[in-house]
Amino acid sequence: MFSEFALHERLLKGIEELSFDKPTEVQQAAIPPAIAGDDLHVIAQTGSGKTAAFVVPLLQRLMTDDSQAMAPRALILLPTRELARQIISEVQKFAKFTFIKAELITGGEDFKVQSAKMRKNPDIIIATPGRALEHLAAGSLILSDIQVLVLDEADRMLDMGFTEDVMKLANACPPERQTLLFSATKGSAALRRVVEEVQRTPRLLQL
Ligand code: AMP
Repeated sequence: MFSEFALHERLLKGIEELSFDKPTEVQQAAIPPAIAGDDLHVIAQTGSGKTAAFVVPLLQRLMTDDSQAMAPRALILLPTRELARQIISEVQKFAKFTFIKAELITGGEDFKVQSAKMRKNPDIIIATPGRALEHLAAGSLILSDIQVLVLDEADRMLDMGFTEDVMKLANACPPERQTLLFSATKGSAALRRVVEEVQRTPRLLQL
């Protein structure tokens, strides 16, 4: 039962509306330590319910945080625009009864329109690394208030050549942030290097 996680009632209402009655194995393993603030490296496949395994603790954290941040508090990085679109749609379903707002920042869309979206003070940015880095350089993306950084499909992101971009973005976030990293495999030497550089002794969950 999701109610066992002691989630904010508005978040539970969103989960109920999705008719998720029982957490999947990855959700059961990842949600409690993620809510506790631990860094996690989760090895899980698409279809396992891994999206909710980071979206639920992320929303819970933002809903129980009363800092009056004027910049995004969470950054979710994904390898492709298509995945980013899927994730924002999931986030919006879970956040339906909350006041949490997410914005999408991917390549192939108007830069100025995206800069204007970021001035509306979204709580969560869902982005592909290249475009996020361009906004960071332009000053339209501010990462100094990030509390949670999610690297989804991290192995694929690195295989696609985003290693340096991901590192730069992670290094622009506060060092005390939480980092949740998801990959389909245990990964290459490049992935181990990223884990070492961007995470603080992550708990490894292999499902
Ligand atoms: P994912 O692995 O995150 O891509 O999720 C795969 C599919 O499972 C998605 O369509 C989710 O909406 C669905 N799903 C995730 N968690 C649950 C759950 N606890 N109960 C029922 N369906 C779920």
